[in-house]
Amino acid sequence: MNIIFVGPPGAGKGTQAQIVSKTFKIPHISTGDMLRAEMDSGSKLGNQVKDIVTSGKLVDDNLMNQIVRERLSKPDAISGFILDGFPRTLNQAKSLDEILKSMRKKIDRVIYVDVPEKIIIERLSARRTCPKCGRNYNMITDPPKADEMCDDCHVHLITREDDKPETVKKRYEVYLELTAPVIEYYKQKGTLFAIDGTMKMKDIEKHLIEMIEGRK
Ligand code: AMP
Repeated sequence: MNIIFVGPPGAGKGTQAQIVSKTFKIPHISTGDMLRAEMDSGSKLGNQVKDIVTSGKLVDDNLMNQIVRERLSKPDAISGFILDGFPRTLNQAKSLDEILKSMRKKIDRVIYVDVPEKIIIERLSARRTCPKCGRNYNMITDPPKADEMCDDCHVHLITREDDKPETVKKRYEVYLELTAPVIEYYKQKGTLFAIDGTMKMKDIEKHLIEMIEGRK
């Protein structure tokens, strides 16, 4: 099963993709996580993209296409994958078609997580992330047990550089301009399934699994 999650930043795609990954035993490929890992390791690629990522802009399409092509050719993606955060532009969506064609694969489901702008801005501003395991918390709706500490790793949570208020607005603008057309692209192709990302997590999980299993 080859799945793509699309939707605005902060819609909960990462959390949902992790659930689907565990349920269907296919890798969760988050291009944002991959770029952050490169930045943390201080690699050449990490240094190259750092300013762009922290300012909320998008990394160059050719570079992203190449990163995804390499990742999808790894053995763990043979029996399926979940892409989260890619494609983010029409150019990336078309390149993905080419990449998959060359691998004799296709997309089975594109899941659009729909969350209104007001809630997105609130969520991103209240988001804190564990620097060790990457788990996200929301200080209003899903706070950690102890003040600003990860429940699992017991280290201090951080605010991602690009979750700072001035960058959040920029990311949403970039989403509307460049990523919204990707949703339309998959709608035209008939592979798009929408989910209401404001529902309770348990309900989202149930709907997602039904959608992927083709019961919806
Ligand atoms: P995310 O964690 O998906 O919100 O991604 C964080 C940041 O990484 C984005 O704001 C972009 O700067 C960069 N990024 C992640 N995926 C892509 C992509 N497919 N194309 C371009 N930039 C990306």
